[in-house]
Amino acid sequence: MDEILEGIRRRVGERIWEKWFSSFCVLEVEHDRVVFGVSNLFIKDWLLKKYGNVIRKAVEEVLGSAREIEISYIEERRDVEGVVREKVFRRSHPDLNPNFVFENFVVGKGNEQAYKFAHKVSLEPGRFSPLFIYGGVGLGKTHLIQAVGNAIFSSKPDVKLIYVSSERFMNDMINSIRENTMDSFRRRYREADVLLMDDVQFLMGKNGVQFELFNTFNELMDSGKQMVFCSDRPPGELQDFQDRLISRFKMGIVVRLDMPDVETRIKIAKAISKMEGGDLEDEVLEFLAKNVDGTLRELRGAIIKLIAYQEIEGKKVGVYDAVSVLDSFLKPSHGIDPIERLFGVLSVVFDVSPSDIRGRSKKVSATLAREMGMYFARKYMKASIESVSKAFNRSSPVVSKIVRKLEKDMKGNPVMEGYLQKILSYFSPAVGRM
Ligand code: ADP
Ligand code: MG
Repeated sequence: MDEILEGIRRRVGERIWEKWFSSFCVLEVEHDRVVFGVSNLFIKDWLLKKYGNVIRKAVEEVLGSAREIEISYIEERRDVEGVVREKVFRRSHPDLNPNFVFENFVVGKGNEQAYKFAHKVSLEPGRFSPLFIYGGVGLGKTHLIQAVGNAIFSSKPDVKLIYVSSERFMNDMINSIRENTMDSFRRRYREADVLLMDDVQFLMGKNGVQFELFNTFNELMDSGKQMVFCSDRPPGELQDFQDRLISRFKMGIVVRLDMPDVETRIKIAKAISKMEGGDLEDEVLEFLAKNVDGTLRELRGAIIKLIAYQEIEGKKVGVYDAVSVLDSFLKPSHGIDPIERLFGVLSVVFDVSPSDIRGRSKKVSATLAREMGMYFARKYMKASIESVSKAFNRSSPVVSKIVRKLEKDMKGNPVMEGYLQKILSYFSPAVGRM
């Protein structure tokens, strides 16, 4: 099926081809669809979004009729020289993200309990049912519940396994009512061996769906099937929820996911980077783990953005690039007197006292420290012009003028960039704590 690939290559051009399609291949041609393979999940989504139509056209041209296209994940096995020796196509469960496996889940403080139970359930489905995992957004619930699914699916591919968000369950139900197919809807869910339902909190206040879930639950429970639920809060805090359903949720194991500690977050950042097929520097990943504002979901967003940036720019990103690329993901500098800390750093980097920086000293080091300090405070710490003006003991217009001047001076000036890097290196581990 090289003609299809050729057709895509011709349409997108050599440069794009090399950049995005390096692992792209045809896996299966069926009468109504063509399955392609790619070794990077992030690229997979990007390709579908950006080049879906191009791929469809190329398929239609070669095969003579339009087909559905699907892109699957393939694992590339390399030899010691890094040359791809084998492309392994692991058929994954259609409901599940093949990256959400236990092997990719970093266990540490905050999530080990939830991990243990999820893992246990995957080894002996049906024994601990239901398992109810709860915790805030972006802490790994979906990853864990899908890992249960992936593990069961890979050891017992014939098991009837359903992963569904409660929202999707509801939409399924509404459609079935509309199309008069409630019977098959009920059968589908009630005949499952394993039912994994994500984000049940979505059903709060939705009485009709709760009723349906209650019946499904009982049926599965009676026949010893495995259920796992995820929610952003414990069962008892689900509002507008039928008590009998809440008490069913509590029947099995209820386990909480917490925000992992910094050490675990660093490992998670590395795992996410690997999952996404990127190779960011450890230093950058550590910086992100400490400074990205928000949950692991934001951390993932930041990592993906940097991987894309690195691939597009064709050069390794450092902490310095990360700060400028990610701006909006990083924690705002809040708390007590970050500026005081900046003065401390400046005096170390430029070997000059804070009072010289604040004062009128015309020493080169004092001037440089003062100007770099104002620039850093404005650009990196997002300090207001008023607070910089006050801290540095200069008027607001003077501060603005200097910051503008530095913006120009900084460009392509390795000495200035060196200073900036240095200031940053003192700051980065603590930016979030300021
Ligand atoms: P939730 O469903 O709780 O909102 P997700 O499961 O979607 O959170 O997790 C957000 C992101 O963080 C996902 O990309 C997930 O793979 C990743 N993640 C969360 N916890 C871990 C972990 N312990 N190890 C590796 N990746 C994790
Ligand atoms: Mg989720």
